[in-house]
Amino acid sequence: MSLFRPQVDSMTAYIPGEQPQTAGWIKLNTNENPYPPSPAVVEAIQKAATTRLNMYPDPLSTKFRQAVAPLFHVDPDWVLPGNGSDEVLMMILKTFVDPGEVISFPYPSYILYGTLAEIQGARFEHLPLNSDWSFNTTACQPVVDRSKIVFVPNPNSPSGNRWSDDELSSVRPKKGILLVDEAYGDFADTPHQGELVRNDASKTTIVTRTLSKSYSLAGIRLGFAIAHPDVIAGIRKVKDSYNCDAIALAAGVAAITDQAYMHQTRAKILATRKRLADALPSLGFAVTPSQANFVWTQHESRQHKKIYELLKDQKILVRYMKFDRPESEAPLGSTRDGLRITIGTDEEITQFLGTLKQVISKV
Ligand SMILES: *Cc1c(COP(=O)(O)O)cnc(C)c1O
Repeated sequence: MSLFRPQVDSMTAYIPGEQPQTAGWIKLNTNENPYPPSPAVVEAIQKAATTRLNMYPDPLSTKFRQAVAPLFHVDPDWVLPGNGSDEVLMMILKTFVDPGEVISFPYPSYILYGTLAEIQGARFEHLPLNSDWSFNTTACQPVVDRSKIVFVPNPNSPSGNRWSDDELSSVRPKKGILLVDEAYGDFADTPHQGELVRNDASKTTIVTRTLSKSYSLAGIRLGFAIAHPDVIAGIRKVKDSYNCDAIALAAGVAAITDQAYMHQTRAKILATRKRLADALPSLGFAVTPSQANFVWTQHESRQHKKIYELLKDQKILVRYMKFDRPESEAPLGSTRDGLRITIGTDEEITQFLGTLKQVISKV
């Protein structure tokens, strides 16, 4: 007899990307920022480490909310921080979704939404896409209609495409929440600044953000939700009292405050993204236009798994992804797999392209 909840017994664990703990890797597999965080962040962490670590952190993360709010033209009570945006997503599920209810998300996209639903005992369904990654609105409609939450990563992963505001409206549930996961929002051509939430009279839109990507802080766990204060107040009821620690909050305030630094690294990443996207076709790869800090690419004839393995032999890690569900056929083609390549530093991408050229001649 199993002591586990049946739900836990039957679920498959989420498998994060490989995180090698040895030196010498070019790591282009989990969409981290290749640049270190702002020097102001390191200073703030040092200061936080030498003051008040014996005391609990501010349960309301007040200073951090005050730093974030103006970026989105809202008041601080529209902001709810979490221990990484993954925790924020879990809190939102706990707040709105009962066991047995349905949540949905585009497929292929971020697999974690399904895992979080399973933990909660909820069911998940996929929003079918067309071959150009647009929503297949006719096929999506019945799924949207029965969804308590529709999750849309925007820009999407692994594709890097970004859906327009009108496209987002087309998958807004009539009685439910539209959650727009803007983990890669800062890398878009024209990043949103809270207008999705501010302009929504129904108050049912939630936007989530993370400091893991554009602010180079994946090693610190910090993300946040932006929503109407009534929605935030509800979610706050289910949160751990001290869900964000003092070190993370200090780092977060410093990172958010140093906008100039974030824009500098963003500009470098966008320039390198263009260079990579321009170079890949000459090696036989089709590249999906990206508004994120990675590109999704498929080779016209070679095996993606093999390319991934040969790169790994050379200590270059990219993400090999295969999507088995039949719904995934539309944007993925018959092989249903491909490579997602994180934008590294310029030097890393130069080395990657050199190695890739050798690898392609071998497979
Ligand atoms: C990276 C990522 C997250 C997780 O962000 P954390 O703040 O590190 O938990 C959430 N959603 C998507 C789509 C992501 O790619």
